[in-house]
Amino acid sequence: MSSAGLTAAAMAAALRRGEVTPQELLADARAQVSRLDSSLNAFLALTDDLADRQAERATEMLRDDRLGAGPLCGIPVALKDVLCVEGYPTTAGSRILENFRPPYTATAVQRLIDAGAVPVGKTNCDEFAMGSSTENSAYGTVGNPWDVERVPGGSSGGSAAAVGAGMVPISYGTDTGGSIRQPASLCGVVGFKPTYGRVSRYGLIAFASSLDQVGPFAHSVEDAAVAYAVVAGNDPRDSTSVIDAVEDPLSALRDGVRGMRLGVPREYMGDGLEAGVRERVTEAIRVLEELGATVEEVSLPSTELGLSTYYIIAPAECSSNLARYDGVRFGMRVERPSLTETYLRTRDQGFGNEVKRRVMLGTYALSSGYYDAYYRRAQKVRTVIAREFDAVFETVDALVCPTSPKVAFTTGAIQDPVEMYLNDALTIPVNLAGLPGISLPCGFSDELPVGLQVIAPRLQDARVFRVAAAYEAATEWHRHRAPLVAA
Ligand code: GLN
Repeated sequence: MSSAGLTAAAMAAALRRGEVTPQELLADARAQVSRLDSSLNAFLALTDDLADRQAERATEMLRDDRLGAGPLCGIPVALKDVLCVEGYPTTAGSRILENFRPPYTATAVQRLIDAGAVPVGKTNCDEFAMGSSTENSAYGTVGNPWDVERVPGGSSGGSAAAVGAGMVPISYGTDTGGSIRQPASLCGVVGFKPTYGRVSRYGLIAFASSLDQVGPFAHSVEDAAVAYAVVAGNDPRDSTSVIDAVEDPLSALRDGVRGMRLGVPREYMGDGLEAGVRERVTEAIRVLEELGATVEEVSLPSTELGLSTYYIIAPAECSSNLARYDGVRFGMRVERPSLTETYLRTRDQGFGNEVKRRVMLGTYALSSGYYDAYYRRAQKVRTVIAREFDAVFETVDALVCPTSPKVAFTTGAIQDPVEMYLNDALTIPVNLAGLPGISLPCGFSDELPVGLQVIAPRLQDARVFRVAAAYEAATEWHRHRAPLVAA
């Protein structure tokens, strides 16, 4: 029987009982990829040699107790193609990095390798992680496992689809404004964005450095907590890495929510929500109440400013980060007689439309004469948004709300960039404030998954997992698999 669709915890237990080997789990993952990826396009590259080597290594680690095999030892994982793996193609979904092979490995990936995890391949994503549907990838769109005509969300759509389709039990993405939580919501899986600074950004291709965070996708809250714990922790190679020790995310997993105070931000339940999303999330909040939490409405009045603030700050940082793609140092080069023309033609042909739009927005916002009006003001609003969260967390322990205002939409259905940006209205404020947040399955609307978002104060990542685990334990939604998972 194939292991496709099992949790990592179930796979790890089977490995320890000797019922399966890392090589067999890897073979199952590959079989599922080759059966489904011609329609899903979740993977941009397979890292076959690395996977084989790691399966060997895991076998050894599992055999010898002294090697301290952890929970991800021998478990197949997938990596968003913005995470550098030495010697393997890393494109960030962009033409401009088509032939780029990084000379070093991201810290998060190195920690997975050290833990004996088995990286199967690199997943498709919006170009440089800019988007909410994975339609901005230079390498084709990705199908949603629940309906291949629909988008998986984005920008980490390939990572979400790879777990949703049972190709791997764990994958990693990045979340700058919602790119882990929103695709998790649309693909019916768990997706966790850690507190900013918890997971090293070293070796992560930068989009907006003050917002970017690496985090996992999984079928269960426990798997997500384990997958987070393996990659979390201080890294001297990332100057924004948090120094404090990581609280064990598994420590509070079974504590329940009795006596906890949960807030529902009024602004997150407003007009923009689809009816089905509102109903499922309202029911989920009732479940948490029945489990003994007290639930109250709270207000984050500046929520509506989140999107406009983000769309100054993120493009500003993007325009600066992407200046390095000049056709000289990395990837693609369109050779022209003069250096300036080489820069211009390389960037013109190498970048897609959304990336160009962001570079122009950011360059404009940072230009002299406009800096104060846009960038400086956006930074002030960012502070206001963060303080509103601080104030609310004086009275409640965590927030619960929808992740995405809508379920997965049909590929090609949204053409207007601003309409696309609205998909992240409920996830972006969390990034602006640097908070941890999770999305977990809470039911279906028109047979498409709906996600519940849980948000906690900075560094209270364990609390996010506690609330999410309590909800999950009381419901069955996390057990549902897309019909295509089983052959
Ligand atoms: N969709 C948002 C954007 O396009 C967020 C992307 C992300 O989190 N990487 O910027």
